[in-house]
Amino acid sequence: MITRTSPSCQTENTVIRLTEAKSWQQLLSDSTLTLAELLQKLDITTDDFTASIDGDPDINPQDFPIRAPAPFIDRMGKGDINDPLLRQVLPLAKEHDITPGYTADPLHEADFNNTPGLIHKYHSRALLIVTKACAIHCRYCFRRHFPYEDNQPSRAMWTKTLDYLQQHTEINEVIYSGGDPLASSNGQLSWLSQKVAAIKHIKTLRIHTRLPVVLPQRIDTELLEILQQWPGKKVVVIHSNHVNELDASVKIAVDKLKAIGVTVLNQTVLLKGINDSATALVQLSERLFDIGVLPYYLHLLDTVSGAAHFAISDNEAKAIMGEVTSRLPGYLVPRLVREEADKTSKTPILPTF
Ligand SMILES: *Cc1c(COP(=O)(O)O)cnc(C)c1O
Ligand code: SF4
Repeated sequence: MITRTSPSCQTENTVIRLTEAKSWQQLLSDSTLTLAELLQKLDITTDDFTASIDGDPDINPQDFPIRAPAPFIDRMGKGDINDPLLRQVLPLAKEHDITPGYTADPLHEADFNNTPGLIHKYHSRALLIVTKACAIHCRYCFRRHFPYEDNQPSRAMWTKTLDYLQQHTEINEVIYSGGDPLASSNGQLSWLSQKVAAIKHIKTLRIHTRLPVVLPQRIDTELLEILQQWPGKKVVVIHSNHVNELDASVKIAVDKLKAIGVTVLNQTVLLKGINDSATALVQLSERLFDIGVLPYYLHLLDTVSGAAHFAISDNEAKAIMGEVTSRLPGYLVPRLVREEADKTSKTPILPTF
């Protein structure tokens, strides 16, 4: 239900209230912006951008535009070009560097794309590409070159995917992925979930999503009702990389999910300049625990072209995790893993002490 704001209200107070009252659908559709607009919201001049990080003021990434919802931008520090939230969405000229070993489809997902909208690579779990859309465009994302256009199945094409699930009785867990599955409408999610629920060997529904973090308003009553109707176990894996992302509004979204029996976990990507220190990771885990979420995976960067400037070496990552392990209780230590193209699970990477 989209509540449109009236453009005729002009006083400052009214405008602020209307911004807060914007529906998540409206916030989602307003989240693509130009570099100039993003910098302006943060009181950063183009000169500061160009000078401090060798930025190209004309950068205009058309294939993967700048995208971040207003509630996420509101958590960035004003005037700080190195803000860890900003750096996740800020395109740099370095994205055009060609780095050996960095490719468009590092995980060879095209090979496991058995039917449109489905990736069945791990024995008991299948990923469903519910939508190609995301609320936020993370510059390090391994799906930044994914041929999403071929993975927007119509309802008729979903029939093939559902047939595949029906025939593969070893699949006991369906993972909604994307894109971001919660960028889909409640209508679409409701339709799909009823179809999947009818397949008796699917016991668990898991949703991999950044929306509870970047646009917590997405966890609305209708979505909670859809999840409540799911007959089996429910897991939501959020994706947060930095403590500053997790404000009170994120806690409210998590509380709503937990109140209906959802297990809520977090995954993080280890990113140079954003969270590549033991302190940053300890703070993130502690804050996650404060809001009722347990850390799950800490991913090494996937070697996707355009993202090499975020990479941390294995040795550095192992050393950081050694320190994290010594500073936190075991249940707050995420598992450091790498996704490898031909493996049938994530590959654990052991910390060094
Ligand atoms: C990560 C991933 C999963 C889920 O793996 P878990 O270890 O169960 O979290 C499933 N399929 C693919 C292709 C994946 O990359
Ligand atoms: S798929 Fe996830 S990591 Fe990639 S851009 Fe979307 S929200 Fe970010």
